[in-house]
Amino acid sequence: MAGYTPMMQQYLSVKAEAQDALLFFRLGDFYEMFFDDALTAARELEITLTGREGGQEERIPMCGVPYHSAEGYITRLVDKGYKVAICEQVEDPATAKGVVRREIVRVVTPGTVMETKNLGEGANNFIVGTAETDGRYGFAACDLTTGELYVTSFPASGESVRNELNVYRPAEAVGDAASLRRLSGEAAGAGRSVLCTEREVAGDVFETLRGQFPGERWEDHEPARRLAVARLVAYLGETQKRSLSHLSTVKSYDPKQFMALDAFTRRNLELTETVRDRSRRGSLLWLLDKTRTAMGARLLKRWIDQPLLDAVSIGKRLDAVEALHGSWMQREELRTELREVYDLERLVGRIAYGSANARDLNALRASLERVPAIRAVLGQLDSAPLAELAGAMDDCADIASAIAAAIADEPPVSVREGGLIRPGYDAKLDELHVASRDGKKWIAELERQEREATGIKSLKIGFNKVFGYYLEVTRANLGSLPEGRYERKQTLANAERFVTPELKEKEALILEAEERMVDLEYSLFAELRDRVAAQIPRLQKLAEQVAALDVLQSFAEVSAERRYTRPRLTNGYDLIVRDGRHPVVEAVAEGATFITNDSSLTEDASILLITGPNMAGKSTYMRQVAMISIMAQIGCFVPAKSAELPLIDRIFTRIGAADDLVGGQSTFMVEMKDIQVMTEQATARSLVIIDELGRGTSTDEGMAIAQAVIEYVHDAIGCKALVSTHFHELAHLEQSLAKLRNGCMAVKESADGVTFLRKLVAGAADSSYGIYCAQLAGLPESIVSRAYGLLESTAAATREAAASADSGGGGLTVRERPSAYDAAEPASGAAAPAAQAGPAPAEQAAPGGVV
Ligand code: ADP
Repeated sequence: MAGYTPMMQQYLSVKAEAQDALLFFRLGDFYEMFFDDALTAARELEITLTGREGGQEERIPMCGVPYHSAEGYITRLVDKGYKVAICEQVEDPATAKGVVRREIVRVVTPGTVMETKNLGEGANNFIVGTAETDGRYGFAACDLTTGELYVTSFPASGESVRNELNVYRPAEAVGDAASLRRLSGEAAGAGRSVLCTEREVAGDVFETLRGQFPGERWEDHEPARRLAVARLVAYLGETQKRSLSHLSTVKSYDPKQFMALDAFTRRNLELTETVRDRSRRGSLLWLLDKTRTAMGARLLKRWIDQPLLDAVSIGKRLDAVEALHGSWMQREELRTELREVYDLERLVGRIAYGSANARDLNALRASLERVPAIRAVLGQLDSAPLAELAGAMDDCADIASAIAAAIADEPPVSVREGGLIRPGYDAKLDELHVASRDGKKWIAELERQEREATGIKSLKIGFNKVFGYYLEVTRANLGSLPEGRYERKQTLANAERFVTPELKEKEALILEAEERMVDLEYSLFAELRDRVAAQIPRLQKLAEQVAALDVLQSFAEVSAERRYTRPRLTNGYDLIVRDGRHPVVEAVAEGATFITNDSSLTEDASILLITGPNMAGKSTYMRQVAMISIMAQIGCFVPAKSAELPLIDRIFTRIGAADDLVGGQSTFMVEMKDIQVMTEQATARSLVIIDELGRGTSTDEGMAIAQAVIEYVHDAIGCKALVSTHFHELAHLEQSLAKLRNGCMAVKESADGVTFLRKLVAGAADSSYGIYCAQLAGLPESIVSRAYGLLESTAAATREAAASADSGGGGLTVRERPSAYDAAEPASGAAAPAAQAGPAPAEQAAPGGVV
């Protein structure tokens, strides 16, 4: 440090403390960056790099941003994954001796952004703490803007970490090297990046934990959980440098409390975002979101991410939804009231942070004032869970009225310029108001007197920040001024400005009163804000209740709009759905009718093997069953005429798609790994969905593996399974596996071509119409004809080899080219197919024994 100026020495010592964060060093009206920080910031923010003398020979690289527009720059850096340490002057430069004292007041990091306009209302922003000890993984997730903190733990494995990452999608993580390595590896695999910081708790873990959560029995938490939370809390303390009074409750859970959904399944079922462009639109979340508050929107995502496994809790949600579903008027009223409720969780966060302004307090008050009406509406509904909720709601009327008494109706954004407090709230403030008002009256009176005395009608008294109050006389009238009484202050183009001793005296009084008013208003405001801050746990509880109510009404609203029905959840095995629909496919197929289908997966018929052409609706059907189960287990009604559903502990989907290529692995390898996970984790209570099983390797091998997997699911796991395959040959499994049934999607052929009826019927399909699809896609006629020719010769060979092996609806037949093709192309010569060999496809259209 030798040789640097005292200020640069101060900079360097603060920078040492800021470590890996870019240091925004306050100098007057700017935040300046120096050395490497300056190079980085200038590059990332595209601002000019300059230099500054620092006492050494070489100039120090420097760049800066004005403090009043710093927020935007900070956000940009944080969005790019940097941490920004903000260093302020912490004493008044006017009275400071030597270099002004400066300290880091906060470090803004991707996981601790408080400026919510950049985060999106309906989304959380999580930072996680992690720990890996003795084969256990501790995982704590916190959203600093809302004050939520969740903690869980599980056997340390990539799979489990991936599952939690899917729920939280954290921007940042703190933990030990091993746990972070696992976490960042999993995040990278999913195409996400998490800013990782290695941290140990400096002091005693219990002390750290009790410091933040004094009410929690930390001895009851396992070590991995304690460590994860302690690291998180220590890091938050270190970066935020203030009391985090809104982090007051820890919600702990075991992942086993929720339906297990692996990353692939979540993605594939498009629960919260679509596969194609990761947008919310088109996802189940999008479909079900009729929430009216930001809190409700965030909670809805959480509920979808974590379907329940406990029939009692699900039943309660469904009871509430049913009551709201049945009462249109009350639901409308409730929705109107909820719309007026602001984001309580984030308001509370700002109050705890001391960054809430008077408008925030008014927003809080306006929200609280809705609560009695909300409770009244709930009281009109005949529903035990809603009555319970209403009964437990604390409308915090004392807080609302404290704010109403103090805060003006339309306060300014700034809390340092007065105008915050209502007249009549504080006697001293009212006195100052009177003094200032009287002073101004006195000035108006003076203006009148001076006009009279001088006879100058245009004489006026004005005010500006530099000269204070002054008398202004136009040049033409200067001659009428008496000598001596006026002191010249400023000369303008065609006027002169003067002051008088009595005007200055009055001005001092007025300005003093105003300054004191502003100070007093701020302290009254801050005092009220602190009083509200002391009530944070009550407000958080209320926020939670409102959020839950909002989600429940949202479920009721969509259910009513889309004619969903209440599912019946049982502790049994059987899954029976009548006239089920896929909620999202139905919703986006505007105008087009969605064809309903039944599902029945029971103890003696638990596996459905679906064959049938591409585009017939197989995967939509299979997903629909999963969606219905998930919707039911989050407490929503389901798209079906009726549904009797067991509690599903895990949904496993393996849907072969072209975009599975992860990290250079072949699709087939990925499929096999997923199947391995399934064999390990699926239980009899799980639902397994495999689309196009065995594709990606040679036909013989693919078919052999597919059969072996199905047999394993049938014999060893015993879970419900929906399997689609293009190997029609597998249909024979119906004979050897007692609990397997064949099904296919009905297709109708006519002179116009093939029509997909989207109806599931019993039995195996007899053709996959692959060549027909190729024809529809516009492949050259020569290719299409040649393909039909080849197909027919294979079929002929097969028929010969197995002349008498046809087993009714079984799958050994291969159908030829649809007749529609013949009609369109009468002269296709040698390659034209022979007479039809299979059963007339039109017969399939008849809704036979529905599976
Ligand atoms: P497959 O898996 O057999 O190739 P998909 O399930 O992908 O077929 O369905 C193909 C198309 O048919 C989808 O785009 C979907 O919109 C539509 N579809 C599927 N099932 C239905 C249905 N039951 N009613 C209406 N349209 C459907």
